[in-house]
Amino acid sequence: MITINAFNSSYTINRFLAKKYVAKNAPTLVLMAGIHGNELAAFFAIQKVLKQIKSQDLAFKGNFYALTGNLNAISKNKRFENVDLNRLWTTESIADLQHKEIGLTPEEKEQKELYGIIKDIYEKHTGEIYFVDLHTTSSPTSPFLTISDSINNRCFSVNFPLPVVLGIEEYIHGPLLTYINEFGHIGVGFEAGQHQDPEAVIINESFIWMVLVHTGCFTKEAIGNYDRHKKRLNRLIDFKGQFFEIDYKYGIQKGEEFQMQSGFKNFQRIAKGQELANSSINGKIRAPLTGRLFMPLYQKQGDDGFFIITRISKFWLTLSRYFRKMYLHHFLRILPGIKQSKINKYTLIVNPRTATFLTYKIFHFFGYRCKVKSNNKWLFSKRDREISPFS
Ligand SMILES: [Zn+2]
Repeated sequence: MITINAFNSSYTINRFLAKKYVAKNAPTLVLMAGIHGNELAAFFAIQKVLKQIKSQDLAFKGNFYALTGNLNAISKNKRFENVDLNRLWTTESIADLQHKEIGLTPEEKEQKELYGIIKDIYEKHTGEIYFVDLHTTSSPTSPFLTISDSINNRCFSVNFPLPVVLGIEEYIHGPLLTYINEFGHIGVGFEAGQHQDPEAVIINESFIWMVLVHTGCFTKEAIGNYDRHKKRLNRLIDFKGQFFEIDYKYGIQKGEEFQMQSGFKNFQRIAKGQELANSSINGKIRAPLTGRLFMPLYQKQGDDGFFIITRISKFWLTLSRYFRKMYLHHFLRILPGIKQSKINKYTLIVNPRTATFLTYKIFHFFGYRCKVKSNNKWLFSKRDREISPFS
């Protein structure tokens, strides 16, 4: 049990912030707060929501779990101790972790405990399971969602008056949400605003109420002030309902000193050639393409300097959904230079020399994202899955 102090108040937290079991086959919502130890707004928002649930004596219609991420880092006022806890969720590292009992790093200890809890929740419930990972950013931002581009994630995301950013899994290795998506379950990441901004608490609170309704935990009518929350999000959020795709990431190398130039905001338009940051290795860093700046790094810990995103058209979204529903993605497998993996039915092995006529964008269209580049081959992994047992 630890006490966190922020936003002029304090709050005592455990691994479980809330645990409510209703029925095995009811829908289940899992909220995750603080997988990054310096992101505390979600805790205060969850506390406000729980208080209201208690005072109104609201009856849950779905199972509800709220979990704390990196407890150790939170207790030390850090984003993480040794490594980012949200970069460890690969199938290989989880398999290794099962056999490891001694010599665990602080983040591995956290991961092992969380993995056990999450696996238990997913095994215990048979209804739809929604995983919502709550974050804040180091730069000022209008709130947004990040998702793996599966149709079920898209359908869930459009319930909220928020912009949606696709494809982050192609640029960061081992986030928890990508791991959850591998089993076909819905998982969305929510960024509520800047770490210390009190508005991030308010926005998180309204978002959580909307999530509770759209996952079937409560009806709108049961929550007396539901419309107020919806209106609040509508008022405070820009780029509502727009979809974006990540086109570029500036990754910070080991030992590199990186400094964003001051004053950039998330989603700000930038032009090719514009100066963005300074690096001890690469000198002045300029935008390699025109687009919008995404998640510029204004904190010491972290390896992602900034991303560049561009808007995806409604036409692309509709057409790609239609093509995927018609199973037209199967035709990719018969093209030269592409074969299906024998180990994983969702993975395509692509020889970029033979399949030169295909670009990343075509794979994205059919719901595939590049996972690994190895031995001159690209592995593309399908984001739409049938639900499979969590292990
Ligand atoms: Zn975060």
